[in-house]
Amino acid sequence: MEKPDMELIKDGKRLDGRRPDELREIKIEVGVLKRATGSAYVEWGKNKVLAAVYGPRELHPKFLRNPTKAVLRCIYNLAPFSVEDRKRPGPDRRSVEISKVSAEALSSVVMLERYPNAGIDVYIEILQADAGTRCVGLTAASVALADAGIPMKDIVAACAAGKISGEIVLDLMKEEDNYGESDLPIAVMSRKKDVVLLQMDGKLTREEFKKAYELAVNGATQVYEIQKAALLKSVNDVKIEG
Ligand code: ADP
Repeated sequence: MEKPDMELIKDGKRLDGRRPDELREIKIEVGVLKRATGSAYVEWGKNKVLAAVYGPRELHPKFLRNPTKAVLRCIYNLAPFSVEDRKRPGPDRRSVEISKVSAEALSSVVMLERYPNAGIDVYIEILQADAGTRCVGLTAASVALADAGIPMKDIVAACAAGKISGEIVLDLMKEEDNYGESDLPIAVMSRKKDVVLLQMDGKLTREEFKKAYELAVNGATQVYEIQKAALLKSVNDVKIEG
């Protein structure tokens, strides 16, 4: 289907006033759920996302157990009230796909071999969606895993870049995602910059891809700084309370 032409950049500014290389505002709160082993709540532009981690714990059903390492499972869920037209509750193709790629991305950093036969469950609940939710979900889940005290090689930070009105920009919001030409969400191990997720919607030339990729990695580096600050704050708060 042809997308209607929409001017998404005017005088170097986007619809929400951002520069092409600017992230939306991000706020991260750590340890928001009492009964989860670890949790995080992230507001990223108009996205509102909760991540909860349970485990490592005995994995059921038993036949899923791996005697050499833990199994990390992830469920990404878009709440019915999270989008403009109510979404039918329950899993669909899109959420099954995002759950799968998120579990794979997180499994690359968690030291699963430390917990043979165990299961680690990660729940990503999208309470309000405004594009980029897989990146927000992964960013929140990674902080929740750290909050759970689960050993990891690195923290996963995610961010998207894309193309709108012919320009490469960072962190597309809903209108840009709808009417733009391309979206490239990535997730990286924060320090080594190894890529643990890379997907793409639409088309980019080789040059555009390179530019968008670099911009997204740079965005993820900024996201990592915010994750780190939130985690440090939560550790200090616990010390003060204690
Ligand atoms: P992401 O949220 O990771 O960018 P998509 O590109 O698939 O993933 O979705 C872009 C946006 O489209 C979502 O953030 C959400 O705002 C909206 N969206 C996705 N699925 C639905 C749906 N079933 N109903 C209404 N809006 C949706």
